[in-house]
Amino acid sequence: MPKGLIVKALSGYYYVRPDGESMDAVVQCRARGVFKKKGISPLVGDRVNFSMTDNGEGTVEGIDERHSELIRPPIANVSLAILAFSVLEPDLNTQLLDKFLVHIEHAGLDAVIVLTKWDLISDLPDEQFSKQESKLKDAVALYRSIGYDVIETSSKTGWGYDKLSELLADDISVFAGQSGVGKSSLLNAMFPGLSLETNAISHRLGRGKHTTRHVELIPLATGEGYIADTPGFSQLDFLELGVEELASCFREFRTYAESCKFRGCTHTHEPGCRVKVALEEGDISSSRYEHYQLFMEEMKDKKRRY
Ligand code: GDP
Ligand code: ZN
Repeated sequence: MPKGLIVKALSGYYYVRPDGESMDAVVQCRARGVFKKKGISPLVGDRVNFSMTDNGEGTVEGIDERHSELIRPPIANVSLAILAFSVLEPDLNTQLLDKFLVHIEHAGLDAVIVLTKWDLISDLPDEQFSKQESKLKDAVALYRSIGYDVIETSSKTGWGYDKLSELLADDISVFAGQSGVGKSSLLNAMFPGLSLETNAISHRLGRGKHTTRHVELIPLATGEGYIADTPGFSQLDFLELGVEELASCFREFRTYAESCKFRGCTHTHEPGCRVKVALEEGDISSSRYEHYQLFMEEMKDKKRRY
């Protein structure tokens, strides 16, 4: 039975790109009724088996096990989340960045931090320039030391494109980030022909960006990679996270947390907490720890789930 990848879902149809065929070959498929009975629905990003029917359409017969699943946008098998944050306009928001990273760790995805609009920094007057630059350099060094890839880009100069396109080459990636940080500008500039709608344009035309868009995987000419085209989404919604799981979503806390004196240590007030020792010794950054505390409080307010 042929195999393929669901690249689009719309009005009860699944569009499957058969393995080994050209990037623009798609078969329009219905899903077998049995999925509905079992409460499963195929998702964009699913690897499937399908059969052909007499009318040239197909039927999705089986779905391979998923290695990840996002709820919104609804996509299976995303490997990489690109977290886009601008260095100016708006300023880098490390609290939001840490929140994204928590959810990404929880979902088991890999994350790359893309810092956009670097050209704006060099346009600053000298005094502001050195202040902003050293602040940003510290942030870049911090996230790299935790183990995240950080790529500095500018859509004005083309800076960082090579490194980023390499990372996107052979998996399904999604972009996340606040509106206006330059996601569409970056993707359009890197992949001519993609033509995602940028904010500048949608504001001018005065129409909402979030309406009637469906999720679609856009094949990248560079290889086997796909980008999920979900313009305008700023948040990734994930399966719920419990308070007890929060610390493990801060990557650099994990090894210390293993040797805390008490099982179930929340790393806030307990004696013999190794995480707090690491914080005092400067091995864990105070901004990361502050965000950990903040998220913990937020989760308690929201009845222990995020
Ligand atoms: P999105 O909402 O994240 O997709 O952001 P857009 O791509 O629509 O960009 C928002 C605004 O920032 C637009 O006015 C862009 O022209 C501007 N912009 C995007 N990237 C850059 C960049 O690298 N440098 C500068 N100076 N401006 C940028
Ligand atoms: Zn502890």
